[in-house]
Amino acid sequence: MKFTENEVIQFVNENDIKFVKLVFCDIFGTMKNISILADELPRAFESGISFDASSIKGFMNIEKSDLFLFPDPSTLSILPWRPQQGRVVRLLCYIKHPDGRPFEGDGRLILKKAIDTAHESGYKVEIGPECEFYLFLQDEKGHPTKIPHDYATYLDAAPVDKGENVRREICLTLEQMGILPESSHHEQGPGQNEIDFRYSDAMIAADNLITFKSVVKTIANINGLHASFMPKPLKEFSGSGLHINISLLKNNINLFENKMVNHTPEPDSFIAGILDKIPEITLFLNPLVNSYERFGSHSAPKYVTWSSENRSQLIRIPAASGKYSRVELRSPDPSCNPYLAFALLIYAGLDGIKNKLKLDEPADYDLYKASGDAAENYKKLPPTLAEAVENAEKSDFVHNCLPSEIVEKYIQIKKEQWNRYLLSDDKESFELNTYFY
Ligand code: GLU
Ligand code: MG
Ligand code: MG
Repeated sequence: MKFTENEVIQFVNENDIKFVKLVFCDIFGTMKNISILADELPRAFESGISFDASSIKGFMNIEKSDLFLFPDPSTLSILPWRPQQGRVVRLLCYIKHPDGRPFEGDGRLILKKAIDTAHESGYKVEIGPECEFYLFLQDEKGHPTKIPHDYATYLDAAPVDKGENVRREICLTLEQMGILPESSHHEQGPGQNEIDFRYSDAMIAADNLITFKSVVKTIANINGLHASFMPKPLKEFSGSGLHINISLLKNNINLFENKMVNHTPEPDSFIAGILDKIPEITLFLNPLVNSYERFGSHSAPKYVTWSSENRSQLIRIPAASGKYSRVELRSPDPSCNPYLAFALLIYAGLDGIKNKLKLDEPADYDLYKASGDAAENYKKLPPTLAEAVENAEKSDFVHNCLPSEIVEKYIQIKKEQWNRYLLSDDKESFELNTYFY
């Protein structure tokens, strides 16, 4: 249910709500929040709540550090794990400058522009993410260890799968928050789990993903476990991906469904657009040094290819019919900022349609086993963060789609991270200390 400002205020007054958490993300998609007392909510709607934007990664400099949070009433949700008396709700926010101008680094604004651009061309994009994560044991002081929660493998059942109860609690919590997980299972790695979402409007999908990650961490912690979204926490086991399922609609008709029936060119061009731009936008889909260790094994892609059903590919057209027809992009990982990632994917697909790009032949074989030459003919995903940064820096597409100040700050921070990695004596410790928590 979508609330208006007045309905939110009424809900807060009538439901014993004491605190309102105002939620937003830094440019890397890390969730941030400020709690206000419920009585302050009308002021928040009217004139925003200020915060020190110079202390948020990629936002403002110290000389001009005030930004304001304006809650989006349509995102109201109770936090079910907080006390049931004097309850807590959360609202996602838009961010503005003191003079009322929208803040260009606000991921929700960036994604909204991409969604609006799609609408102007007659398209709607719906997104259903599948998010993998690991559960690790905590030590007696509650600090995370690197000992996996269990030693189960793909789709194993309890009691080998010890994640069953935690996943149940995560799914029920999400449901109470109005988010609908479709399914959950144990993944390939020890302690690795996955929860998949019903497709929805791209903004809702991004908001839900941010919420999902905080719910997973919170519920895991309540159960004495550490949840990690690090793309490759255990070198010898499966990494954690964020497969992004995308459907493309025109006049309420799913064009991927239609593709099978009357061969309209748009879906192919949409996919071709994503394949064309993927090397340039990978920085925003796989933003960590560690992201690149996931590629090329354990069902994670390495080549810029597509195929039906084949899980060694970057893009897969899953076996699905009717409104579930879609395309699945398999390279992104859960460390990305979903607002920026979804925006870039929408623009890349639209660009493919605008330029009537043709889709190459599918790569219908197992790319992990393909003998050298066959596979080497394909373009590859960037093999390191440094190359992904270089591609993005040179990309007119990236600079046209995202605000230039944000691209510059993003790239500058990523270059610094890469340099710190290069200078570190113990690379593995650097990655763990920077990304595991
Ligand atoms: N964990 C794999 C990855 O890193 C994906 C496994 C799957 O197909 O779900 O992308
Ligand atoms: Mg999976
Ligand atoms: Mg998948």
